[in-house]
Amino acid sequence: MDIFLAKHRGFCYGVKRAIDLAIKSLENAEPVYTLGPIIHNPQMVRHLKDKGIEVADTVEEIAKGTIIIRSHGVGPDIFAKAKEKQLTIVDATCPHVKKAQQAASRLTQNGYQVVVVGERNHPEVQSILEWTHNKALVIENSAEARNIAFFPRLGVVAQTTFSAGEFNTIIDILETKCDELNVERTICMATDQRQQAAIQLAGEIDVMVVVGGRNSANTSRLAEICESAGCKAYHVETAEELRPEWFHGVKKAGITAGASTPDWIIEEVNNQMTQFQNDSQFEQLEQQLQESDTITLEPGSIIKGKI
Ligand code: SF4
Repeated sequence: MDIFLAKHRGFCYGVKRAIDLAIKSLENAEPVYTLGPIIHNPQMVRHLKDKGIEVADTVEEIAKGTIIIRSHGVGPDIFAKAKEKQLTIVDATCPHVKKAQQAASRLTQNGYQVVVVGERNHPEVQSILEWTHNKALVIENSAEARNIAFFPRLGVVAQTTFSAGEFNTIIDILETKCDELNVERTICMATDQRQQAAIQLAGEIDVMVVVGGRNSANTSRLAEICESAGCKAYHVETAEELRPEWFHGVKKAGITAGASTPDWIIEEVNNQMTQFQNDSQFEQLEQQLQESDTITLEPGSIIKGKI
């Protein structure tokens, strides 16, 4: 079995930056908290906890120390509360998300009815809404866009991970819902790159292993995309979840990973799949030996395993 890695996989820029800032903040020798899990990956959250970084659900829970704002960002009220409590604020909001928050705030101040295109309950969308003092509307799909009322001036921003194709369809609909439309292009390409790379690889292999947290929406989406492309896909959080029978008779297997999956977990998955490959080669040789007492090896063949 040959194993191929998707060209774009794992940590995106914003997530890597947030993790690096969190680890660096430990140098201040004071308690460090992230406001909510820093990423949708339980293994990474546990890894950071082992280093001394705790998760707090609210600012009120933190008596003193450093508060890390995760890449999804938060609204102005959270910054105000943290300042009031004299906490050290490490703002790890991804710059792409920051751009969407600032655009939504500016459009609101300039008198536009702001529309945020994205998942209503996603923390990033919630943070963008808060920068408009919750005056913005949220649209999740084309059907919702068709149902909004007419406004003289509409300003539009997108959740950074929203599908670019679907966003363009929604923009076409919103053009018919106002006299003036002001669109801020705030979609980040990291998600799209991972999806395109997964689709390309899925077309060349028999089985795809998709690595990432079960609570990571973009990882689950990668698995769905691979299945839609006609490739059997298995979503795992860690190498321990891999099963050798998934790879019986498989000639080519692929690995991809969501934007919140650390490299070390991808590497462990790759190593375990390579081990299955070696075990399977050894089993084939054992089988041949049982059948014929002798086997012929190519010059330079290497046999790994117990004899
Ligand atoms: Fe930033 Fe894009 Fe990563 Fe979201 S997916 S954290 S916007 S780089």
